[in-house]
Amino acid sequence: MAGADAYGGAYDSAFEQGPEHMRDYGAELACPKCGQLHYISPRRLQADLRIIFNCSSCATEVVHENAVAQAIAARMATIRRELGKIKV
Ligand SMILES: [Zn+2]
Repeated sequence: MAGADAYGGAYDSAFEQGPEHMRDYGAELACPKCGQLHYISPRRLQADLRIIFNCSSCATEVVHENAVAQAIAARMATIRRELGKIKV
């Protein structure tokens, strides 16, 4: 389906520009135990449904349910479903 490919391609190129254009969309997650901040890259925020890391200060394993990536995934599923309805 050519229409879907063109749409998907636009999304892909937007994500490939990520390092240049999404740089400021990273976030700092605080360790729940000691409060140490850990920088999470925009790419991880967009892609990892659950962000898991070991605190660099107290070595606690931090598991963060990533609402950002979960929202993006839900939106992508919606877009894909809507594209499926389009007859080209
Ligand atoms: Zn910690």
